[in-house]
This record gives sequence, C-alpha cells and structure tokens, in this order.
Amino acid sequence: MRTEEEAVLMIDPRNLDTLLHPQFDAVAIKKAKPIGRGLAASPGAACGKIVFTAADAKEWKKAGEKVVLVRLETSPEDIEGMKAAEGILTVRGGMTSHAAVVARGMGECCVSGCQEIVMDEENKTFTLGGKAFKEGDWLSIDGSTGNIYDGVIPTVDASIVGEFGRIMMWADKFRKLKVRTNADTPRDAKKARELGAEGIGLCRTEHMFFSQSRIMSFRQMICSDTVEERRIALAKILPYQQDDFEQLFEALDGQPVTIRFLDPPLHEFVPHTEDEIALLAKSMHKPISRIKDIIDSLHEFNPMMGHRGCRLCVTYPEIAVMQTKAVIRAAINVQKKHKGWNVKPEIMIPLTGDLKEFKFVKDIVVHVANEEIQAAEIKLNYEVGTMIEVPRAALCAGEIAEEAEFFCFGTNDLTQMTFGFSRDDAGKFLGAYYDQKIFENDPFAKLDQVGVGKLMKMAVADGKATRPKIHCGICGEHGGDPTSVEFCHRIGLNYVSCSPYRVPIARLAAAQAALRK
Ligand code: PEP
Ligand code: MG
Repeated sequence: MRTEEEAVLMIDPRNLDTLLHPQFDAVAIKKAKPIGRGLAASPGAACGKIVFTAADAKEWKKAGEKVVLVRLETSPEDIEGMKAAEGILTVRGGMTSHAAVVARGMGECCVSGCQEIVMDEENKTFTLGGKAFKEGDWLSIDGSTGNIYDGVIPTVDASIVGEFGRIMMWADKFRKLKVRTNADTPRDAKKARELGAEGIGLCRTEHMFFSQSRIMSFRQMICSDTVEERRIALAKILPYQQDDFEQLFEALDGQPVTIRFLDPPLHEFVPHTEDEIALLAKSMHKPISRIKDIIDSLHEFNPMMGHRGCRLCVTYPEIAVMQTKAVIRAAINVQKKHKGWNVKPEIMIPLTGDLKEFKFVKDIVVHVANEEIQAAEIKLNYEVGTMIEVPRAALCAGEIAEEAEFFCFGTNDLTQMTFGFSRDDAGKFLGAYYDQKIFENDPFAKLDQVGVGKLMKMAVADGKATRPKIHCGICGEHGGDPTSVEFCHRIGLNYVSCSPYRVPIARLAAAQAALRK
C-alpha cells in the first residue's frame, strides 16, 4: 500500500498533458515517420486538411472540414482561424511567440518555428521533407513532440479518468505554492477554475481585442493623431474592457484577479493588408495615405523592446486612466452584486524598469481608482504591482518595492532580455546550441535557473527586505513547467501562474517540490 505522498511523487507531471489533450492513436503513431520537426509549442495532436489563412480555416470548419492552419507566423488577426483549426503550424517563432502563447491559452495543439518549411503563402503551397504540400492536403502534427507527419493519423480525444481528481486533491494538500492561471477571457478563466486554478495571475488585456469586432477600435487608438482622437477611441474600448473584467471577476468567484495593463507589441496590432488599412482609414475619416504614414512611423527595429508596456502609459497617460476606470468600475459592480465576496483587483504594470517610471503610472492609477471608489460610495481594496521582466527591474527590486505592492516575474521577457535573445527569432540558432551541447533546453520553455533565476532570487530577497509582506509570483510560460515550478517553490514565490491546461501540471509539480524539500 502506497502513501498519498508516494502516489503524488510517482507521477511525472509532464504526463498529465496526455490526459488533457487529444493524442494520436497509439498503434497508428508507432508506424508513422515524421517528415519534419518544429518546436513542441502547445501539447496535443491534430490532424486536418491544410489551410493557409485564418479566413479559410473558419470557412472550411463551417463546411464541416477539420483543418490544420499553416502560417509563416500568426498575428492577432488570425485568432478566429486559430480557434477553428484543429492545430496550428508556423514556420517562424519560438516557445513564447504569438502562436505558441495563444494556442497554449486555448489548449490547442501548436508546432511553431519549423524552419525547414519553405513557404509560398501566395500560392498556398509549402515544401517539407522533400514533398510539396498544397491546400487541402492532409497533415498531422504533434504539439507535444514538435513532430510533423504527412497524411492522416487518427487522434483520440482527451479523457480525464476517475483517479485524476483524487491525485490532484492529494497534491493540493502538500503544495505551498498557489497555482493561478493566465487567462484573458471568461471562457479560459472558467476552464482554468475547473482545472483547479486559484486566481488569475495574468490577464493580458491586449488579448481582449483579438476579435474582428473589437480590433478596429484598438487600431483607432494606436493610429490616433491627437490626444482627443485617442480619447474617443479609448471611450469605445472602455465598455468592452469593463464588461470583460466583470465577467472575469464573476468567473473567479472572488478569487484574486491580476489585470495587466496594455502591453501590445505594436507590430502585432497595426493593420497589414490593403483592405484592413482602407477599412481603418474609412472608420477614422482619414486618407489611406495618412494611415500608411502612421503605420510607417510606428515601425520599430526591435518591437519587443519598443514602445510597449508601461512606456505606453508614460507617453499616453489616458490609456492608464481608461484601464483603471474599467478595472475599478467592474470590481465595484461585482462587489455590489456579491456582498460576501472580497473583490480585490490587482493592477499590474508591465515592463517596468525604474521606480520613478512605476510611480508615474501608479499615481495615475491611484488617483483615478480613488475617485471611482469615492463616487461609488463603496469600500474596495485594490493593489498596484509590477511585472519584473526587464533585468533592471530585478536589479532595482528593493527600490521598486517601495511603491509596488506585488511582483510578478514575466520570465518570457526576462529570459529574452537577460540572454539578449529575441523570443521570436531565437529558434533560428538555438538548434546549434543543442547540437554543440552548449544548451540542454530551450530557456524560453525551461527557466534558466543559473542566470535568469539568479535575478529572480535577488529580486525576491531585495523586494522582501523593503516590503516584507510583498507577494511574488511568476506568469511567464515557465509557470507551467515542472522544474521551473520547483525552482519557484525554492526561492519562496507565493504563486505560479500558467495557461489553463497547465494548471494541473503546476499543482502536481508544486506538491512534488514541497515533498522533496
Ligand atoms: C512575460 O514576459 O513573461 C509575460 C508574461 O508577458 P508577455 O508574454 O505578454 O510579454
Ligand atoms: Mg512580457
């Protein structure tokens, strides 16, 4: 007879993926030979007919077809097509680029960064493994291994069996780390709650604008010429945000919800096609040439290091004003509706690197939040904290904690900026690092405990020295990786936050970390 501790320790958390996502039929996959390989970006298996555009994915799905969406890379416009597809395959990108992060959030299979593919998007063909593929050909992909197969390999659906719940319950008894989720929609939040999440650790608010019906007002905000124009666009965005936040607070039954202020890499959000540019120009009563000029002026050589995160609030404080109103009004409404709940929004400022920079944004938040709370004649607590994702923020964590009420490590960016590797492009050369045995793992998937981890450890210690009760979490993709979770336990974080389908993995890994100590 085994003890509960022994049972919890026996299971490899990575194997939970097989219970939570569709897999290839065990007999069929044994006989199959991969024709290529990309990054195992989001687990599960998918089989479908190849389509090359998000619009086709939607249309074909409507017509009853199963499709695999093959793209050079994905962007917010592709979201509906990504949802419609069984799986997503991209030529470019890494473990933390758009396709990977979004697919993981949706629990959908994704193989990213398959550099071997020679793509001809215009003619809807690509070659891989010496074969030319065209629209409608069958393809099978495995997001747990990164393998790509020619033709049909049958899949079997996920099946959570009876003992799963019991093991999870045991795990919860032992773990010290809380497990939250990264969720941007009420649907993801509900899924994560079912899988045991104890709060939202990251709501990427820019992801709330992916749908076709919303992206227009977001683009109007980005392409405004004047503060007045931007205010008009923001006024359209506010009700969307407030409504989404209300639904998130509701879905979480009063559990903590961390809402991160806008952090859109601008190149992902500006319109790309002539049609989209024309539509935007019409909606803003501007000539098409003016919109093109604005898009050109927004071009950045390093968009991931560019005008994003809190830098947007410093240049356009009206964005912070709108988001604060949306969060606080939503919290007030939900608090009024559920008298017994303690709705306490956590407002998180992204990409902070400096105390004064953080304070500039925090002052706006506090001013607006207090006005809203007073006007509503209600008692509502809220916190303003920061992501630690720029190395300077980790180095200056002691100072930043004078103002920041919580820290959350954004280890996607912290890894990018500590190594100086672009999170979207590193896949091009990381292969050579594995071949040369310089790296054993992708640092965007498994936390680099030696370098990035050292910054985290230092930031936690310095933050706590200034503000002993500061709560610290992680919301980079590493928050759902078992060895990284174990590290987070060791350095005394309070919670890890990961995409919904990785919540059980994190629960088990956190319990194992506590038991092995
Ligand atoms: C991060 O950088 O780790 C993070 C969670 O933020 P994003 O991936 O949205 O940049
Ligand atoms: Mg980030």
